[in-house]
Amino acid sequence: MKSIGIRLFLSYLVVLVVGVIVLAVVAQFSLPNAYGRHLGAMEGLMGGQSNGMMGRGGGAVGPEGLYQNFRFSFFEALAWAGLAAAVVAVVVSVFVSRGLSAPIRAMTVASQRISEGHYSERVRAAGRDELGQLAESFNRMAEKLEQTEAMRRQLIGDVSHELRTPLTAIKGSMEGLIDNVLPADAETFSQIHEEADRLSRLVDDLQELSRVESGSFSLDRKPVAVSDLVTFMRKRLSRQYEAKGVTLTSDLPASLPPVLVDEDRIGQVMLNLAGNALRYTPAGGRVNISAEARGREVEVSVTDTGVGIPPEHLPHIFDRFYRVDKSRSRQAGSGSGIGLTIAKYLVEAHGGTIRVESAGEGRGSTFRFTLLAAL
Ligand code: ADP
Repeated sequence: MKSIGIRLFLSYLVVLVVGVIVLAVVAQFSLPNAYGRHLGAMEGLMGGQSNGMMGRGGGAVGPEGLYQNFRFSFFEALAWAGLAAAVVAVVVSVFVSRGLSAPIRAMTVASQRISEGHYSERVRAAGRDELGQLAESFNRMAEKLEQTEAMRRQLIGDVSHELRTPLTAIKGSMEGLIDNVLPADAETFSQIHEEADRLSRLVDDLQELSRVESGSFSLDRKPVAVSDLVTFMRKRLSRQYEAKGVTLTSDLPASLPPVLVDEDRIGQVMLNLAGNALRYTPAGGRVNISAEARGREVEVSVTDTGVGIPPEHLPHIFDRFYRVDKSRSRQAGSGSGIGLTIAKYLVEAHGGTIRVESAGEGRGSTFRFTLLAAL
């Protein structure tokens, strides 16, 4: 049954039909009985007073009396039948209306429980009518709320954990300085400065993450050549690549169509992927940027010959604060585990997808993302 309107209509019809049937059946049985009784009473009257027009006690005899007795017996039968029909109709109505109001009551109870913080509350979605659909969307809403709540808790836990590490380091160094355990030299101060720097980068990343997660950013999409994105990234990173001794190459076909993107945002994604590739590739390694057109899309790949990613970590690599090797990232100095999460949001905001491939530890990684071609 698709519509609650039809269900209501059918419920009324059921009550009506049941009422009429009961009315007819009861009338069928009670009418002869009542008629016989009234007729008997009239015969009694006629026998006792054969030559008068009026019966004892004012009862009429003759055609008028017959009519009156018929009326009495008719109304008596009707009264019994009506009473029976009303009782049955009330019982049927109670069942029918219970069936209709039960899901609404269940949803009221569930929403109260959810508002009290019991986010795992769900209702049973029975039927495919509007109430069934309402129950389904109610459950979806409850699931979303549960996820958001879990994410909020996780975020608070993660953020406090992430803030604690550099803060502990700064505090430790300061205490060392106060107690004269650490020398007040450039190295100590630059260590403190590095930790403070990490803190401020983390705060910047968190701000950016909250912006992209809430979707409160606008995209200024224009056709952009992929080579321009690569050039922008090269300008920013080539010195660091040279300093580490990692070769950066690109391999873009001449026929590649431009992509329809917000240049700054996708530039940021490119920078993040190439920056990661550099960070996780030892000296002497190679990073290559390639792209190919695929129908209405262009797929950009950043391939490195670096440390690679073990297969069990691949599904989580875009999760926020996820790091394959926490100590390694900490030592490398700048990993907060948010960069890829932001990259994923930005690519998806452009209608694209991002994925990672790696043959395993020490065997390099490839990050690929798709963008819409500006055809
Ligand atoms: P981070 O700031 O820690 O690099 P990301 O979100 O950019 O944060 O990356 C998450 C994790 O993914 C990194 O900590 C690292 O373990 C892994 N990772 C990212 N890029 C690469 C890569 N090119 N090679 C190997 N591991 C990588």
